[in-house]
Amino acid sequence: MPLFEYYCADCKSRFELLVSHKHADDVVCTKCHSEKVRRLLSVFAAPRGAGEDYSFDDAPATGGCGCGGGSCGCH
Ligand SMILES: [Zn+2]
Repeated sequence: MPLFEYYCADCKSRFELLVSHKHADDVVCTKCHSEKVRRLLSVFAAPRGAGEDYSFDDAPATGGCGCGGGSCGCH
């Protein structure tokens, strides 16, 4: 089961829960039992590393000069 991180809007606390995907949006706060909890992005599920590398490679192309590395001095 994946580990999800939640934020409670009532007691303003964050907590982590192991829940199945089926019940991922059906949890209550572990402290105040409020239903006003919001699921945060899972640390494990977020493809951060690969995404950042990809956008870094893409950035020079959107700069307009097409030099591909910022070495042309147009930045
Ligand atoms: Zn709470």
